[in-house]
Amino acid sequence: MTDFDGKTAIVTGASGGIGEAAAKRFAEEGASVVVADLKVEEGEATVADIEDAGGEATFVETDVTDPADVGAMVDAAVDNYGGLDFAYNNAGIEGEQAPLSDQSIDNWQQVIDVNLRGVFLGMRAEIPAMLEDGGGAIVNTSSIAGRLGFPEISPYVASKFAVIGLTKTAALEYSAEGVRVNAICPGVIDTPMVAHSREEDPQSIDQAVAATPIGRLGQPEEIGDAAVWLCSDDASFVTGEAFTVDGGYSSQ
Ligand code: NAD
Repeated sequence: MTDFDGKTAIVTGASGGIGEAAAKRFAEEGASVVVADLKVEEGEATVADIEDAGGEATFVETDVTDPADVGAMVDAAVDNYGGLDFAYNNAGIEGEQAPLSDQSIDNWQQVIDVNLRGVFLGMRAEIPAMLEDGGGAIVNTSSIAGRLGFPEISPYVASKFAVIGLTKTAALEYSAEGVRVNAICPGVIDTPMVAHSREEDPQSIDQAVAATPIGRLGQPEEIGDAAVWLCSDDASFVTGEAFTVDGGYSSQ
């Protein structure tokens, strides 16, 4: 227990994948963690794992597209733990794969709602709570698909580019008041989202590994480490940054 002793963190999408790993990393560093997700059983399992390891966490059933849920998520941090210091707005969905002219309007809306509206609603509720508490740090999950085009997932790519724009604008607006805002652009990370892609197209993972100079998929903990670092005092002069953690994928 070091840096984050006495601090509070919210992690969305923390019932599995990157969010679960990040929630555990924040707790390991001493933060009390609000685990927010749609999936109740898996979210409660994340909390149980944190508690078993000696940490502190609470699950809050949250749909990040719903302003009332997002408000209740932030209230849970303030009411249970006395304030809000860090937020990792990470919940996201890939959506259906199809060329742009075959994309359904429903799929477009769903992906934009979760990945973009969710980050907007999250920051909108988190920033006032952080300002009340002397400042804080926010990390949003973008993607290498916020840096590069990827065929068949145009709504996803559009949402992840937009997350970087939101991140930079929030950083301009709030850094002087003590809230740093950054994004992480993960490469291909071994999570349930990628397992789903593997089911759809078994060769897609081999192709992703071949396109990753480091020669393997990333692990969710490696993204959790980056989120923890961006929230720590070690990153005290870092704001408005889209931090790529992709094994070199987007460097070619
Ligand atoms: P995942 O599917 O394993 O986990 C996503 C979590 O978000 C799930 O627990 C899900 O229940 C939750 N979620 C979905 N919709 C939600 C909603 N409306 N409200 C609350 N929670 C919701 O995915 P992951 O791979 O861990 O991805 C996490 C984030 O990282 C996403 O934003 C994703 O776009 C991004 N990302 C993933 C990769 C990758 O290769 N896995 C790469 C780049 C970016």
